[in-house]
Amino acid sequence: MFKLQAGDIVRLKKAHPCGSSDWEILRAGVDVRLKCRGCGRIILIAREKLRRSMRQITSVKDP
Ligand SMILES: [Zn+2]
Repeated sequence: MFKLQAGDIVRLKKAHPCGSSDWEILRAGVDVRLKCRGCGRIILIAREKLRRSMRQITSVKDP
């Protein structure tokens, strides 16, 4: 199980068409709402799919 919380930044393996591969987590549940840090586009992705497609998480909050 991996931890996610709103405010964290995730880097995906595949970059968004705008050139950014960093996404900010807006809401973390069974589905995760992500906002592209490059263009501001908001997407909804299944948590399990996100886990498989991300490279790293940068947590902005203390555990
Ligand atoms: Zn983008």
